[in-house]
Amino acid sequence: MKYYARPLSNLIGQLTKLPGIGKKTAQRLAFYILSMEDESITELAEAISEIKGKLDYCSVCNNLTESDPCPICRDTKRDKSIICVIENVKDIIAMEKTGEFQGVYHVLHGAISPMDGVGPDDIRIQGLLDRINNNEVEEIILATDPNVEGEATAMYIAKLLKSLEIKTTRIAHGLPAGGDLEYADEVTLSKALEGRQEI
Ligand SMILES: [Zn+2]
Repeated sequence: MKYYARPLSNLIGQLTKLPGIGKKTAQRLAFYILSMEDESITELAEAISEIKGKLDYCSVCNNLTESDPCPICRDTKRDKSIICVIENVKDIIAMEKTGEFQGVYHVLHGAISPMDGVGPDDIRIQGLLDRINNNEVEEIILATDPNVEGEATAMYIAKLLKSLEIKTTRIAHGLPAGGDLEYADEVTLSKALEGRQEI
């Protein structure tokens, strides 16, 4: 990158740090940004610099939000007695796209994975139990990923919930095994939700 002026090589260097962006793509993007209107560049730069400072976790469901509680938890039309437990914030978007789910969420921010040293205390299970203890909850839908860690996490939570006498369901199989919920298409995810079974 020694051929480029410093600001340009700096931008290319920053862009190559992003996942899926190689040197060539970074160069193309950098030149594209250079050709943009000043105003658009400022908007892009502001959007990037705002992303951390203006976002926080919802104190109820752990969703990423600009205002606490998040819009889903604040929505009076949503059924607070059904909580769908998912691993990541991105899974909320996948579920919302189906347009099928009218309940609320609980984001664990991970899954139990002894191999990676992630135990039950390292993900946000306690918050879920607190919600159940403090609210009228009728059903917990375990929608963790259909892979080893996701299954282990679902089983662990199901065991904890047994004593609380709350209907606990696991979304149906049919989702690509070993996959991530966020990559499932809307139809598959809708069907998995519809076909959930009590465990
Ligand atoms: Zn929330």
